[in-house]
Amino acid sequence: MTLVYQSTRDENNKVTASQAILQGLATDGGLFTPTSLPEVQLDFNQLQNASYQEVAKLVLSAFLDDFTEEELDYCISHAYDEKFDTPVIAPVVKVGQHYNLELFHGSTIAFKDMALSILPYLLTTSAKKQGVDNKIVILTATSGDTGKAAMAGFADVPGTEIIVFYPDGAVSKIQELQMTTQTGDNTHVVAIRGNFDDAQTDVKRMFNDEALRAKLLANGAQFSSANSMNVGRLVPQVVYYVYAYAQMVKSGVIRAGEKINITVPTGNFGNILAAYYARQIGLPVHKLICASNENKVLTDFFATGTYDKKREFKVTTSPSMDILVSSNLERLIFHLVGNDAAATKELMTSLSENGEYSLPQVDQEILDLFAAGYASEAATAREMKQVFDEADYVEDPHTAVASAVYRAYRVETGDETPTLIASTASPYKFPRVVVESITGQNPADDFAAVAELETVSGVAQPLAVRGLENAPVRHTTVVETREMQAEVEAYLGLK
Ligand SMILES: *Cc1c(COP(=O)(O)O)cnc(C)c1O
Repeated sequence: MTLVYQSTRDENNKVTASQAILQGLATDGGLFTPTSLPEVQLDFNQLQNASYQEVAKLVLSAFLDDFTEEELDYCISHAYDEKFDTPVIAPVVKVGQHYNLELFHGSTIAFKDMALSILPYLLTTSAKKQGVDNKIVILTATSGDTGKAAMAGFADVPGTEIIVFYPDGAVSKIQELQMTTQTGDNTHVVAIRGNFDDAQTDVKRMFNDEALRAKLLANGAQFSSANSMNVGRLVPQVVYYVYAYAQMVKSGVIRAGEKINITVPTGNFGNILAAYYARQIGLPVHKLICASNENKVLTDFFATGTYDKKREFKVTTSPSMDILVSSNLERLIFHLVGNDAAATKELMTSLSENGEYSLPQVDQEILDLFAAGYASEAATAREMKQVFDEADYVEDPHTAVASAVYRAYRVETGDETPTLIASTASPYKFPRVVVESITGQNPADDFAAVAELETVSGVAQPLAVRGLENAPVRHTTVVETREMQAEVEAYLGLK
């Protein structure tokens, strides 16, 4: 039986896994979502000795069931290799009362690497399976982080090109250097004289420009998207929850079969949704704890059943969670209303037209799996300090949001279930705010903060940061917003 991925907004739009990956978003605006669960045998007495790659094979072959074994081996072996600074790939570390699942050992020291290092291989393999031999062109506008993680994933992957636009002067020095020193013959980085929205708007316009699409096709190429709604990003994220549980069994923290809680610092709801799917295929989970920063639209949603995006957007020290429309929540909504596409579409239409929706009668069993909370900016800074003082461990601000929410949850509920926290970034990614929070000092710039963090934490700075100051800059193009398309056409050599 082949698993069916159905659009959350049209019950007649059904595809296989590889078709879902190649298409990205459904043309009706919905998200491709599995309507049944694959059969997976999770035997943790065995899995506790499995490598990351072996767990990945088990989980991916279940969800991506139209891929052959050879195809999955190719994708997995090229994704989870020396790009990661530990052969464990995603270690579990005890931190005070909880366990951190460190998802930041890849090229850009944040959790997006976990999925973006395999997506390019899943995409090109999907294209081949569908008889498409066009070159896959990824266009991305970035406010700093996602573009770099996507580039690191796509760099030198045969059959792909990636072009990233970022707002000139609006990213941190480290972020800018991470992008402008990017290697790979198929990577192209362009600064624009405009803000992130300008870049984003024009990228979307190019995606939908029929004439440009036709020109690409005539030149043997087509656009594709690497955004977090792609099934090729969601499914690889299920892997590390299964792998983390196996590690907890192996180290004797839990017995095979014992339930754990999983706390996830949440923005677009992709990472926590993957934890939900891990639970659905048999991972023993008590609660999924959804942690937000001051943009607490999800905390309110779980408390009231109403999703209301009509509120002030706050800029916080955990920027990857500064989101008011959590795109991947649509998949949970779809399941909550009994996999009903018409009902989901109605709610999503209400969100775009009225800025809100309220849940109708839903599957209470699914809803009860979730707990939710948020951490203020002050609470997040306090948490970094407290974790450092108590456990001699430095958390980044995103992880600290989750850690603070979990601390409050534990006090409120008395729930002592062993708890895993998805640790989504290295503190070296946000060195200034981390140093400020734990020492009270104000480093002069990012590099001074990195040096200070190294002294204070005793953890060596990762390869991704080391040498950045002196790495050769390879990308220096700056253009006006209106010149973006000309830049794309010139770079791709379109005629
Ligand atoms: C993207 C990101 C998140 C949020 O993950 P979602 O899947 O969007 O919920 C949290 N922390 C960091 C560091 C991230 O980069």
